[in-house]
Amino acid sequence: MIKSELNISLDASYRDLAKRTDVRHILGLSGGKDSAALAIYLRDKVPNMEYFFCDTGKELKETYEYLEKLEARLGIEIIRLKAERGFDHFLKMYNGFLPSPQARWCTIMMKIKPLEKFIGDDPAISYVGIRADENRSGYMSTKDSIRAVFPFQEDGLVKEDIFRILEESGLGIPKYYEWRSRSGCFFCFYQRKYEWVMLHEKHPDLFYEAMKYEEEHSDGRKYTWNRDESLREILVRKEEIIAAHRKKVEKEVARKSNKSLVEVMESVLDEEDDTIPCFTCHL
Ligand code: SF4
Repeated sequence: MIKSELNISLDASYRDLAKRTDVRHILGLSGGKDSAALAIYLRDKVPNMEYFFCDTGKELKETYEYLEKLEARLGIEIIRLKAERGFDHFLKMYNGFLPSPQARWCTIMMKIKPLEKFIGDDPAISYVGIRADENRSGYMSTKDSIRAVFPFQEDGLVKEDIFRILEESGLGIPKYYEWRSRSGCFFCFYQRKYEWVMLHEKHPDLFYEAMKYEEEHSDGRKYTWNRDESLREILVRKEEIIAAHRKKVEKEVARKSNKSLVEVMESVLDEEDDTIPCFTCHL
């Protein structure tokens, strides 16, 4: 592999770039639906694709299962990238300050750094599953040797297409989509209140572990994953939160009868909080 800066015209399409044999081709899977659909979509379009997953060690078991299913279905290997140290080590390093949308050290230490180590100085094309109906950005490598491309945007694919690709491939959507619409760590601060109480419902052990991170600090301080409510407070309102969510879903189903329940749930959750998460973790 020649190590050099990428010498590519900015308007080169991903289909042209896919043919290049002098660069690495990489696709990051987050455990979410869009990156999985992209892996399916590009399976026969990009030879020599390297698939990777940045494993924080704090993912849901459904995520690991989904990745295994994807590997089996496509006959690919997904390389698991891990930070040298785990979340608890970094939390100590940051004096117990929980990560937040404003201080996303978790993504930097546990996803971006391992990824940059994996790529090194090799020139690479990074295929990213942001859709044509989305307007989000996030971490783009600042390295001149990496060029991000967006096949769904180039080809005009929107959310409905993603569901169709997953359905037709037989892979389907991740199991956690029944109650949570974003991939990532079980304690991710991008979760909405309904997703938190459903974490309690589906994985009570993980919910209480997340609660411990809020409450157990040697300096006696308390941190919360949410800006306005602790997990203990959210738990007290569990039934109320679930009831309110169900009511909104029913209303939305009546309004958009052609949408699947999963799509409806996602749009209801987005209405509650549509903060755009990072695509390193949630694609
Ligand atoms: S999923 Fe959330 S908590 Fe985990 S690394 Fe990404 S932003 Fe941080």
